[in-house]
Amino acid sequence: MRLILMFALFVGFGVLGPVSGSGLFATEAVAKENVPAKQLFGRKRLPADLKARSVGFYSRGCLAGANAMPVDGPYWQAMRLSRNRNWGHPALIDYLQWLAREAAAKDGWPGLLVGDISQPRGGPMLSGHASHQIGLDADVWLTPMPNRRLSRKEREEMSAVAVTQTGPNEVYPHVWTDAHFRLIKRAASHRSVQRILVAPGIKKKLCQTETGNKAWLRKIRPYYGHNYHMHIRFRCQPGSKGCKPQNPTPAGDACGKPLAWWYTKAPYADPSKPKKKVKPKPPVTLAGLPNACRTILAASDKSGAGAIAYGKSAAKPTPFDTLLNGAAPPLPKPRP
Ligand SMILES: [Zn+2]
Repeated sequence: MRLILMFALFVGFGVLGPVSGSGLFATEAVAKENVPAKQLFGRKRLPADLKARSVGFYSRGCLAGANAMPVDGPYWQAMRLSRNRNWGHPALIDYLQWLAREAAAKDGWPGLLVGDISQPRGGPMLSGHASHQIGLDADVWLTPMPNRRLSRKEREEMSAVAVTQTGPNEVYPHVWTDAHFRLIKRAASHRSVQRILVAPGIKKKLCQTETGNKAWLRKIRPYYGHNYHMHIRFRCQPGSKGCKPQNPTPAGDACGKPLAWWYTKAPYADPSKPKKKVKPKPPVTLAGLPNACRTILAASDKSGAGAIAYGKSAAKPTPFDTLLNGAAPPLPKPRP
């Protein structure tokens, strides 16, 4: 039987030409080379079992040894769980939990609603962000956490409340509170925070409200969008060989001229000449990412990581339906 099979294979190869074992592997490898990296990274459900390391730049890189932001904590709830983007460099995850605790204890902010961080192994995403690729970016909603555990469905569908319009606007006086100010100031106070992106109206309000030392406002950068969440960017962390730092923000509080620029037409102007039709760039493949991202993609799953993210049913590949089945940790009483 085996002989017949071997003969058949031999003949088969003869007919098909130079298809060998190694050739098959090569074909597979070539196929992987052509697959957009966002598909390869988007498919990974768990982090790489390697030492924590951010590789590359915020908008082009990947992440090893990620930790999960647990979907529930006493002072936070993770949102949009179906995206599986509640993963980050362990230092960033620790920071978010610290911020949640501190803001609840000292700033009158009842808890964080945590939006996207990164995928389990970072990398480009199928939808949304250009950055968030190396586990050092986190979106935190500017909506206070409600006084109850949100269902999985609510975490998918609930909208954040805008505190201003995007662009050259002011904060809504009926939405903005001093607690918003204190939360953002607290977030910026950590030395590992490189910058925080917010809508110009938010930066303006922060500049007006701060009567003391304005030095921390250097980290607060006006940007497009960001009117219902802040984007916190962490610095490259020790041990992250190949993590490319972003240029430091310019000296000064940037409450003057740099902010005034966001209230001119320049940032929003249509280019006077219609742009030439540019061919859309092909999606980034593995070749477009730092080499170490191949190793990170191929590494085995970090054991136990899923348990932190999804509760006890983590080993199953369908964690999302069971996310909230267990009893969520009770909210602390009395509420801070
Ligand atoms: Zn963001």
